[in-house]
Amino acid sequence: MTPSSPDVRPPEVALSDVLERAAVVRLPLRTRFRGVAEREAVLLRGPAGWGEFAPFLEYGPTEAARWLAAALESAWTGSPPAVRDWVEVNATVPAVPAAQVRQVLARYDGCTTVKVKVAEPGQGLADDVDRVRAVREVLGPAGRIRVDANAAWSLDEAERALRALAPVGLEYAEQPCADLADLARLRVRLAAAGVDVLLAADESIRKAEDPLRVAAAGAADVVVLKVAPLGGIRPALAVAQACGLPVVVSSALDTSVGIAAGVALAAALPELPFACGLGTAALLAADVTPRPWVPVAGRLPVGAVEVDGALLAAHAAPGERADWWRRRIADCWEFLPRR
Ligand SMILES: [Mg+2]
Repeated sequence: MTPSSPDVRPPEVALSDVLERAAVVRLPLRTRFRGVAEREAVLLRGPAGWGEFAPFLEYGPTEAARWLAAALESAWTGSPPAVRDWVEVNATVPAVPAAQVRQVLARYDGCTTVKVKVAEPGQGLADDVDRVRAVREVLGPAGRIRVDANAAWSLDEAERALRALAPVGLEYAEQPCADLADLARLRVRLAAAGVDVLLAADESIRKAEDPLRVAAAGAADVVVLKVAPLGGIRPALAVAQACGLPVVVSSALDTSVGIAAGVALAAALPELPFACGLGTAALLAADVTPRPWVPVAGRLPVGAVEVDGALLAAHAAPGERADWWRRRIADCWEFLPRR
């Protein structure tokens, strides 16, 4: 099955119907992210539930159309069958000084897996080692630690860093280098050196073909998949099946509606060996539901989000922004994956 097969086509819906149902919100963030302090999103209410359309502003219509396909799937088709009732999620420690790690982790309820940001510009390997060690100290020996370099290391830097970090015990390193060939070389080098760290591809995956390229190149042991950039839950499931690597489902600064779609993907995967990166609703200072999809006891429930009309109204985007988003939907329409 490929992502453009008939099973994963967007539903047949009229553009006018979609535009009529679109509610555009602007939600404040707790802290700035990708240079913004607010997050705008379109919420669509369809016969099957709520869908979210919120591609980052710099994305063109071809890329944004996949996000639209995902929103249409959630609102008009609904989720595929779930094989589990809840999904474990990870806590995230940003590139803070080691002394602040305990305080950051105290914000998370019951997460036993922690993602630690490393390779921050202006910091050095010693900062990363100190931070990761501090996380191990708080988590104890049974906790799982993954590091995320966001593609910032060169091949040599990545090898040196992962040799230094591996003794702390890592479940995997996310996108240590930008380049696929470098990731593949790094895997060979680490194996030759007896360094036991799996590699995960995140930034390398922006569209459906990418996980197959990652697998074919031997560039990673794990793939990080997000629902919206892949065009929906079913296309993402097809990608997971085709690439054959374990999947970590992650979110992209979504409202609880987008998070719930990620949870639905994670819940539908036959195997889910790692905690998912779906704890990001906590980054929003307001949400579209009175019960935001933030982890409790380290887990998120599988199910539908109750969107609150009063919250949609309270956080309605200014009129010109709402118009802009409606135009964006119309611009994406002809680029929807083959219908
Ligand atoms: Mg990442």
